[in-house]
Amino acid sequence: MKGSFTISLKNRLALTYALFISLALGALTLLINIFTGIIFTALVKDNIAEKSEEIARAIGEQYDPLNQGFNTSTVEAMGMFFLHEGYIVTVEDEKGNFVWAARSCDMRQCMDVVDSISLRMEQRFRLKGSMRIQVFPVKRGSLDAGTITIETYGPFFFSETETRFLASINRLLLGAAAVITLFGVCLSIPLARAIAKPVLKAGEAARMIAKVHSGGVGGEDIIIRIPEGYRTRELAELSRSINKLAGELEESKRRQKQLSADIAHELRSPLTCLQGNMEALIDGVFKPDREHLESCHEEILRLAKLVRDLNTLTNLEWENITLEKTKFDLAKLLQVTAEQFRPAILEKGLKLELDLRESPVNADYGRMKQVFINILSNAINYTDRGAITVSVRDGGFAPRNLSAAAPPPRLIWEAVVADTGIGIPEGDLSRVFERFYRSDKSRGRGSGGAGIGLAIAAAIVHAHGGTISAESGGGGSTFRVRL
Ligand code: ADP
Repeated sequence: MKGSFTISLKNRLALTYALFISLALGALTLLINIFTGIIFTALVKDNIAEKSEEIARAIGEQYDPLNQGFNTSTVEAMGMFFLHEGYIVTVEDEKGNFVWAARSCDMRQCMDVVDSISLRMEQRFRLKGSMRIQVFPVKRGSLDAGTITIETYGPFFFSETETRFLASINRLLLGAAAVITLFGVCLSIPLARAIAKPVLKAGEAARMIAKVHSGGVGGEDIIIRIPEGYRTRELAELSRSINKLAGELEESKRRQKQLSADIAHELRSPLTCLQGNMEALIDGVFKPDREHLESCHEEILRLAKLVRDLNTLTNLEWENITLEKTKFDLAKLLQVTAEQFRPAILEKGLKLELDLRESPVNADYGRMKQVFINILSNAINYTDRGAITVSVRDGGFAPRNLSAAAPPPRLIWEAVVADTGIGIPEGDLSRVFERFYRSDKSRGRGSGGAGIGLAIAAAIVHAHGGTISAESGGGGSTFRVRL
């Protein structure tokens, strides 16, 4: 469409590949990210629980049973160390008196640690938590030596090292995805080009074929074909179809040429004859008597018939003929038609034999009559002695369509017109239904037809979905029409 946005197949394929690769990689990266996050979080949670227990055990070991008290300076050193890692420790003796508490020792430091952890978790991981408290009793034998309380940011928190580790994993994933996408896009361009190439070639060939057949390039002798050996089924089918189309176009062009030549040939003979007669009459060589005028009239009638027949055939072949179907008895039609020819048959000293039985058909009466007129007039024309037999018989059932919705099988009626005339050579049998085909090339037999009668008959029978065939052998010809 003019003005509408179009995109080449190659670009479209390349874009589709690129989009697919990016989407697939994006989804994969997201999934890896989510799963890594889940697994890492579970690990970190376990780690915090284990570490809290370890801290409680290590500080608990600072209880001196001899002095019945904690080694305060070591507890403070340890407490301050763990505070930097995000663990706020409070140690109480068995009576509940503070031995050492991180908050009382350095409140400011405690707040800084909590603030930096909560800021990191909220900003980087969008996780809003609160302080969780775990209390571990300190036992010395069966004695209660006190309690150790550990406060941590919960439900869990990432240390700075862990945060850095997660960030670098994310960066790595994104980088890998970007590199693979770029690689995929680069690869998709030659891949798309390889797929689009045969299609473009096919388009080019189709354009060339159109040009040649419209007379734009060279002559019709140029034969253009696309290679058919593609491994992709659709491409192989496309090239086969285009080659078939090219073949049909060539054939149609050949037939068109043949048709023009045949028409010119058929017109030339009567016109030459008329011209000769007229010139002789004008020059006074012939007298305008009945004999010469009748000869001219005959040629004019022949011309008129040719034009009429050609017109009928063109209408049948090119226009979608509408059949005016009615139910009638085929036998009756054959009888009426044969009777019309009886005088001509008798005049030639031939016999007419009828073997007819009731045969109801649904067809165009007028056109079917034309079929048998053409066949019968040939039979009379090409038979000098013997008989013409017209019969109708039951030709069995039409092959059944196995689908459930198919209509019930229909009976076929076969009309047969047989003569004892000159017959048709074996090699000509399949061609007698072609336009202008005459197996008897010598002109002047009877009405000396142009070779259109059987082509008209075949077109009518085919329009009815029927078949027409010719047989010859043992003296004479037989024409079968199956409806
Ligand atoms: P035409 O008008 O020349 O008879 P048709 O199309 O009717 O044209 O027939 C084509 C050719 O088929 C005829 O020229 C003739 O050679 C051959 N043909 C047709 N019918 C018969 C027949 N009954 N016996 C022998 N040849 C026949």
